[in-house]
Amino acid sequence: MKAEQVIDDLKRRFPNEPEYYQAVTEVLKSIEDVYNEHPEFEASNLIERLCIPDRIHSFRVTWVDDKGKVQTNMGYRVQHSNAIGPYKGGLRFHASVNLSILKFLAFEQTFKNSLTTLPMGGAKGGSDFSPRGKSNAEVMRFCQAFMTELWRNIGPDTDVPAGDIGVGGREVGYLFGWYKKLTREHTGTLTGKGLEFGGSLIRPEATGYGNVYFLKHMLATRGIALKGKTVCVSGSGNVAQYTAEKLLQEGAKVVTLSDSDGYIYDPDGIDRAKLDYVMELKNLYRGRIREYAEQYGVKYVAGARPWGEKCDIAMPSATQNEINADDALTLVNNGCIAVSEGANMPSTPEAIKIFQSNGLLYAPGKASNAGGVSVSGLEMTQNANHLNWSSKEVDEKLQNIMADIHAQCVKYGTLPDGSVDYVKGANVSGFMKVAKAMMAQGIL
Ligand code: NDP
Repeated sequence: MKAEQVIDDLKRRFPNEPEYYQAVTEVLKSIEDVYNEHPEFEASNLIERLCIPDRIHSFRVTWVDDKGKVQTNMGYRVQHSNAIGPYKGGLRFHASVNLSILKFLAFEQTFKNSLTTLPMGGAKGGSDFSPRGKSNAEVMRFCQAFMTELWRNIGPDTDVPAGDIGVGGREVGYLFGWYKKLTREHTGTLTGKGLEFGGSLIRPEATGYGNVYFLKHMLATRGIALKGKTVCVSGSGNVAQYTAEKLLQEGAKVVTLSDSDGYIYDPDGIDRAKLDYVMELKNLYRGRIREYAEQYGVKYVAGARPWGEKCDIAMPSATQNEINADDALTLVNNGCIAVSEGANMPSTPEAIKIFQSNGLLYAPGKASNAGGVSVSGLEMTQNANHLNWSSKEVDEKLQNIMADIHAQCVKYGTLPDGSVDYVKGANVSGFMKVAKAMMAQGIL
């Protein structure tokens, strides 16, 4: 396999899908050597079968807004691979959603889920519908219309969706309610459900907490403590909030949060009371992060990202490609020592090169943000067995999984000079398990 050739071929067959090529390129470049040590992989054209999704469902979603106007959006579900378990991955509702973005996310999810050690395949879906500015009733009608199309393609042993950008507890509740109505079954077909109807404790916290657990393992390889470090976090949604919460518990100082309109910088640090304010502002009132600056009299920068602020650690937790080469250079020049990704693919390839060539500890999202899907996997186990585990039990399992993912990265990513390439480690480890499963299952 020649990575360049495979990527060129994908570009020819699937034009205008830049995020998808970006994700595939990163993985293929880092697994190329290992892949080529196995001629049996090439003999069964494993690489094309691994890069191209098993199938893609796409559909029109029609709903009526509060003014009585009929609206249409596009809906998608990319079922990338079920080699190691049922398809599993979130739904994203955001105006920017298109097939390229969902194909990159589903591809990444396949490797991430493999890393978790749980039996889950990879998928992703969503819509170009944005819940921003919509009433609860509009969001509910949209979710019902979306599920009316999707339900035939999912199930507890087939494909188990969850949340992502724009899909939180409210949306999962509406989606699950309508799925239940259509199927007349109460099964664990979605994760991220409310605690009253099958959700798992620690699921809302899992991605953010997991990222901090992963970060601590990375820092420990250099004997560095997290306590007292200054951290820039981007985003102010689910992942950012619980990243900030765990960082606070660990004695670190969080100085930034953002949304798609701008970022706030609080030099004194976002303490527990301020974080409670953010959670209420974002989750209850669906407000803007700008309001934090008005409330606490701190700096707000409209239309910008927080990477220009001085920090020891950066934890991007908003969206893809939110750290470019200039941002990366600024972080390095400001003394940043570690970047641990909460979002999926938040750093551009050029930014990753800058982090790695300057000796920063750099964790790609598919390793460091895998805590979310891990606890979704634990939610599936609890649903299947009609069990409810305590917070302590789930958190312990999450900590063990993150330790295991870190160990896999070290095992497969340690370079001759003793440093760890976490990108290589995560990709090779995730890939080998999926590849072996595919080889054992024949040509499909
Ligand atoms: P939320 O919708 O809860 O929050 C997303 C945050 O990012 C919001 O603050 C949002 O601002 C901001 N944001 C979204 N799009 C953009 C953009 N184009 N530019 C700047 N800011 C943006 O989503 P999550 O916290 O769940 O997801 C954040 C990231 O983490 C995503 O990359 C997701 O794929 C990833 N992830 C999430 C997991 C989970 O368990 N939820 C699991 C693993 C990864 P605004 O409110 O203005 O839109």
